[in-house]
Amino acid sequence: MARHLLLALAFACITAGCQAHFVNFTLPNLPYSTSVFEPNIDNTTMYLHWFKHTQTYATKLNDAILTTCLGQGLALTPLSQLVQKVGATVPCGSNRCKAIRNTDCETAIRHQAGGLYNHGLFFLHTLAPTGIQNYNVKASNALRKAITSAFGSLDNFKANFTTAATGVFGSGWTWLVYTPATRKLSITTTPNQDNPIMGLYSPKSYPILGLDVWEHAYYLKYQNKRADYVAAFLGGNIINWAGVSNLYDKAVTGKYPSLNVLDLNQTTWVA
Ligand code: MN
Repeated sequence: MARHLLLALAFACITAGCQAHFVNFTLPNLPYSTSVFEPNIDNTTMYLHWFKHTQTYATKLNDAILTTCLGQGLALTPLSQLVQKVGATVPCGSNRCKAIRNTDCETAIRHQAGGLYNHGLFFLHTLAPTGIQNYNVKASNALRKAITSAFGSLDNFKANFTTAATGVFGSGWTWLVYTPATRKLSITTTPNQDNPIMGLYSPKSYPILGLDVWEHAYYLKYQNKRADYVAAFLGGNIINWAGVSNLYDKAVTGKYPSLNVLDLNQTTWVA
C-alpha cells in the first residue's frame, strides 16, 4: 500500500478517536561502520544487509500493522512481544485461541517482525568489529562455564555450530539458545525468519547468538561456499562475546522475554 495512503489511514484513525498512535519500527544507527568486519564479512554485504534487507523488514512490518493486522490489537505491541505471539495461544472462554487471530496477519508478523528481530540480534548483539573481542577475555565466566558444560569445549561448540549452520536447507538461521526448562545451552536452527522464542517452538528457548545463513548474508563474497562464511564467523574474531554474555545473563535471569533487540544500550561494543 502506498505510504500516503497509510498516512491518511493513520490520520483518519487519529481524528476518529481510535488508537492515538502506532508503533513505528525504525532501524537504529549502527554503532560501527559497515566495513569493520572485513575481511570476514565484506563491507558491501554488511551495508546492503542492514540498510536495505533489514530496512525492508521494518517497512513491511509497519505496513502490516496498519493494514493486514488492523483490528488485531497489535498497534502498540513491542517487537519482542510481537515475535512471541506467533504460533502462541491465549485463554479464550474455556478454550485457547490463537494469540494473533487473523492468519494473514500472523504470517506477516512471522516474516517481518521475525526478520527485524533476528537482524537486531545479529547486527546489534552477536557481531563485533573484527579483532576487538576475545572469548577468553570478553565472555563472562558464567557463559564460558555453560558452554563447557553443554559442549565440552569452545572448539566442540564451534564444530557443532558449523554442522548445524551448513546443514540448514535453503534460508534460515543457526542459534545458540538457552532453554529455561532444562537450564542448558544448545544449538538449534530455524527456517526463514523464524526465531526460537516464537510460540511455534516448544520448549521455549532464548537465542543468545545467531548466524544468518540466508544467501544475502554471504553470497557476494562467499558465493556457494557457505562453510567458508561460517568458518569466518566462528574463527574471524567477530563474535561479540560481551554481548552474547549479556544475553545469556538476561536469559538465565528471566529478563530476556522483554528484551528490546534494537536497543543499542543493551550491548557492549568496544574493547
Ligand atoms: Mn539477513
